[in-house]
Amino acid sequence: MPDYTMTIDGRAVAAERDFGVVNPATGEVADRAPDATREQLDAAMESALAALPAWRRDEQARVKALHAAADVLFARSEEIGRIITLEQGKPLADATMEVVGAGVWLKYFADLELPREVIQDDDRAFVEVVRRPMGVVAAITPWNYPLLLAIWKLAPALRAGNTMVLKPSPFTPLSSLRLGEVLRDVLPPGVLNVVSGGDDLGAWMTGHPVPRKISFTGSVATGKRVAQAAAPDLKRVTLELGGNDPAILLDDADPAAVADKLFAAAFQNNGQVCSAIKRVYVPESLYGDVVEALAAKARSVKVGDGMAEGVQYGPVNNKPQFERVNELVAEAIAGGARAAAGGRPIDGPGYFFEPTILADVEDGTRIVDEEQFGPALPVVRYRDLEEALDRANGTHFGLSGSVWSADPERAAEVAARLDAGTVWANTHLALAPHQPFGGFKWSGVGVENGPWGLYGFTELQVVHRAKG
Ligand code: NAD
Repeated sequence: MPDYTMTIDGRAVAAERDFGVVNPATGEVADRAPDATREQLDAAMESALAALPAWRRDEQARVKALHAAADVLFARSEEIGRIITLEQGKPLADATMEVVGAGVWLKYFADLELPREVIQDDDRAFVEVVRRPMGVVAAITPWNYPLLLAIWKLAPALRAGNTMVLKPSPFTPLSSLRLGEVLRDVLPPGVLNVVSGGDDLGAWMTGHPVPRKISFTGSVATGKRVAQAAAPDLKRVTLELGGNDPAILLDDADPAAVADKLFAAAFQNNGQVCSAIKRVYVPESLYGDVVEALAAKARSVKVGDGMAEGVQYGPVNNKPQFERVNELVAEAIAGGARAAAGGRPIDGPGYFFEPTILADVEDGTRIVDEEQFGPALPVVRYRDLEEALDRANGTHFGLSGSVWSADPERAAEVAARLDAGTVWANTHLALAPHQPFGGFKWSGVGVENGPWGLYGFTELQVVHRAKG
């Protein structure tokens, strides 16, 4: 048996073909993953369909199974963390925390109640609104938080009584394959199927007749394709897509006090976070100090192989993304931007890029206008707050944003004027299982997390009982 197998109907399934998974710290193939055939996808879908009736009937079994799944992840967090570091690149401590976080999310959803709401109870009728599972869920995930983002789908979907076929990114399939393996003894056969393959496999899933719901996290461009593929069967979709999240400093912000927090929220996971800070707007009066404080921080952090002790930031996850970051930075510099820190790839094997702070850069430059998704942060000047807000809002994105001020009330008031699904005052990237997360505009459709995320895996049903 190969190191990693798919999980279909509770059993290990190898594939006739496989593909290499590259360790981004070395650029070398680290292991291989099965490349599912259409017949194997059909088998996974049929198995998920067959598992539905028993799974949706027994709520207590679902609660118990999700708690047990969380306990398995807690117990194996370091082992699975190593797999995440190998395929994704992030430091081992962060990867292990990703697995622990996945367990926390499972426990949260295990204990979340699906309410029945009585909307009429009089001499004419007793009317309740209840939430029913949708059926088979097709879950498609990206490569930045391969395990956690899979669990953001799995936990609410299964809690609500659905079954699932999960397909991870071809760049990071191993941790999801291992997830399927370690949950084989915890979940009944067919409740969770894990298949791996290329982008084609995602398209086969979205066009497949069995799923009633597609839960997708990834880029805007793919999200639009998913929405189109869902339309002929009117499959329900949740789309968690990209962001180009602004942070705006107000004129009373203290550069020394905020720089570390800004840096942490821009460079978490090496900038590969959908809702990371992707551009910073700074008033003229603070500009020099903020750029220098961010640059000093960028120069001080340790970049390296995520398996090595003391490393804070790993490589960019994959070659196309590495080339994109390099191209956006080089283009900005060629256009007159100044690299206050970094600005170049790091010599040697792997997809390492210097933590980069770009100054003297304007809207209209691609690294400001587009999602860079990597370790490079543009810092943009503004003169007038209204103008900064217009620029922050003047994009197709609307995932999140933050405003920073010595006056928390003022920060919150200005933050509320950002057109985004989450706005923060004096913080950024504060996410939690009970907090709904989703995007305005092209950043998404629907939300994940909290009761609202759970409802996204249900259909509303009215149960109307006549009286008299
Ligand atoms: P991507 O869109 O390239 O791929 C995402 C997934 O979709 C992968 O599993 C891929 O194989 C699959 N896929 C590709 N083509 C498909 C198709 N035609 N039909 C169905 N599935 C298909 O995205 P990525 O590069 O893996 O991830 C980075 C993007 O994800 C960034 O834009 C980032 O902002 C976004 N993201 C969003 C969130 C969020 O919650 N909003 C979280 C993390 C990442």
